[in-house]
Amino acid sequence: MTAAPAAPCQNHPAREAIGVCVECRARICSECVTKVDGINHCVACYAAVADRGAVRRQASASGTSRAGAAVAAVAWLGAGTLLVWALLAAALPGGG
Ligand SMILES: [Zn+2]
Ligand SMILES: [Zn+2]
Repeated sequence: MTAAPAAPCQNHPAREAIGVCVECRARICSECVTKVDGINHCVACYAAVADRGAVRRQASASGTSRAGAAVAAVAWLGAGTLLVWALLAAALPGGG
């Protein structure tokens, strides 16, 4: 029989904590810990971090760069159409 750990996991009183959550300072065992870039997070805080990370990635993926590319594409399309139209008008004979 072993006594209860001196620093038990907040979720598992019978387990000894291996680390502390960097966000909420909760003691967490090897089952509860999730490492993000080598930093310990408890389950709840990891979920919050994952949410923030997902939002940030989505925001950057569909952010100004893609909108700017679309605007540039439309601008090039318009300029190209005008150029072709001008060349055709110049090449066609007479025009009357
Ligand atoms: Zn936490
Ligand atoms: Zn635990």
